[in-house]
Amino acid sequence: MISSKRLILILGDQLDLQGAALRNFNFQTDEIIMIESAAEAQYVWTHKAKIALFLSAMRHFAQTLSNLKYPLAYIKNSSLPIVEVLKEKLIKDGITHLICVEPGEWRLKQQIEEMAATLKIKLEMREDDHFFCSHQEFIAWVADKKELRLEYFYRLMRKTHNILLDADGNPEGGQWNFDQDNRKPYPKKGPGIIEAPVLFAPDAMTQEVIEFVNQAYAKHPGSLEAFSWPVNREQALEALDYFIEYRLRNFGIYQDAMWTDTPFGWHSILSSSLNLKLLNPREVIAAVLVAWKKYSLDLSTVEGFIRQILGWREFVRGMYYLDMPQMAQDNYYKHQRSLPKWYWTGNTKMSCMRDAVGQTLQYGYAHHIQRLMVTGNFALLAEILPKEVCDWYLAIYVDAIEWVELPNTAGMALFANGGRFTSKPYIASGAYIKRMSNYCDSCKYKPDVRFGETACPVTTLYWNFLIKHRAQFESSPRTRLMTANLKRISDDDQQAIVLHAEHVLNRLDDL
Ligand code: FAD
Ligand code: SF4
Repeated sequence: MISSKRLILILGDQLDLQGAALRNFNFQTDEIIMIESAAEAQYVWTHKAKIALFLSAMRHFAQTLSNLKYPLAYIKNSSLPIVEVLKEKLIKDGITHLICVEPGEWRLKQQIEEMAATLKIKLEMREDDHFFCSHQEFIAWVADKKELRLEYFYRLMRKTHNILLDADGNPEGGQWNFDQDNRKPYPKKGPGIIEAPVLFAPDAMTQEVIEFVNQAYAKHPGSLEAFSWPVNREQALEALDYFIEYRLRNFGIYQDAMWTDTPFGWHSILSSSLNLKLLNPREVIAAVLVAWKKYSLDLSTVEGFIRQILGWREFVRGMYYLDMPQMAQDNYYKHQRSLPKWYWTGNTKMSCMRDAVGQTLQYGYAHHIQRLMVTGNFALLAEILPKEVCDWYLAIYVDAIEWVELPNTAGMALFANGGRFTSKPYIASGAYIKRMSNYCDSCKYKPDVRFGETACPVTTLYWNFLIKHRAQFESSPRTRLMTANLKRISDDDQQAIVLHAEHVLNRLDDL
């Protein structure tokens, strides 16, 4: 029997009552479906905290929908993939009209489109209006560009949405970007007192999820002991308010700083709430702009924060949909090595990696510089197969959804697409980590030693990388300076670096 009913699919990262999925909802004829799928938690070896966050947030959202009397089919703990559950439901109820918001993962988008074509049903896949920039606008921006760079896209976003512009339409403070002011390390004595982020003790629903995840996914990486992520809109709003009130003021200056046992620094910790759509980027930016005036915050902090959300977050999303599915296959340097085992355990003598991976296992969180310049930098220098690295990032961070994870990992951290939207590989030696953190103080290795037993593996692999790719680096004015430093290293020492790097690369698991 054919039904006139419309089925509205809401995915685990689309938990927004105002979202496009619920637009024109008809309480008489429409039904919502939400699906917990074990297959989604298993196709990469997902961190327990990420699974728990998704399940808990979905269940809280389902409760809100039920309170508002939305007709809802909530499928708990299915072992089937999402599309299979969806297919069963569509066939069983004879439904021929499926509505959803475009998934944040290419794979799922393809699967839903294929399923709809096979079943010959009407599929209404709506664009996600959570974002500032539509696909059409992004494609139009790309059309006449020789180079795809964040900076110019970001300026366009600022102008289009009238954010941080003075009365004449010029950038506040006379410049578009205050990045240079946002790169300070913590003082030598350490970060001092940092206002801790607000934590949310698990309620009964979250506790039930935690017990379930600990049992059903016992062998998955990570721990749930510290689980305190916002799981509903009220908590996400509270986290936003708290960040604005107490932590935003120092966000800018210490954005790139790292310190042992300081997992969150002055960062906002809002990415999971934004990506699950518990928060809207427009309200986040509006709140920051109000705080700027109210608390006379530094423009560099305000601009630095807004750039991440209005700039990077929108830009990488545009790039993802533009370059998929190729982006997932790119391997510019043809790297083939396996990810060292300690990425999953934190069990390494390298203090910087131990700290970054350790806090990741504990919370499902590391901040941007840890992701880019510690774990990402090492994976690039150690010549790891991009697919293995990307799967790790997708599995291990609570905010990881492919539209944002993949461009950051493959594109930004690994240069796997050959610099399609970055001007150079983001690589650094141990000297950078030493400058930006205190990790090296407690490390078995020495950041300024390039070869030999005490040599810092990051430093050895950095120079080895430059020696190996010298021609490429010399061909660009942005990177020429890096290889210029090679001239200060004697031929004998360069040989010793290459030899030692070979030794390091052959025993990555033992570092
Ligand atoms: P803050 O430092 O407080 O920044 C504020 C917000 O800006 C973030 O919440 C986030 O929404 C946005 N933002 C900042 N940088 C970026 C960026 N480069 N791209 C997109 N949005 C950004 N972010 C994710 O949300 N999910 C991911 O899976 C993810 N994977 C990453 C992988 C790698 C290798 C790298 C280098 C970065 C990745 N990022 C990812 C970007 C960034 O590291 C995180 O958004 C940030 O660390 C989240 O912490 P926060 O909320 O405290 O961010
Ligand atoms: Fe990391 Fe090298 Fe410093 Fe050790 S010495 S913490 S490996 S950068």
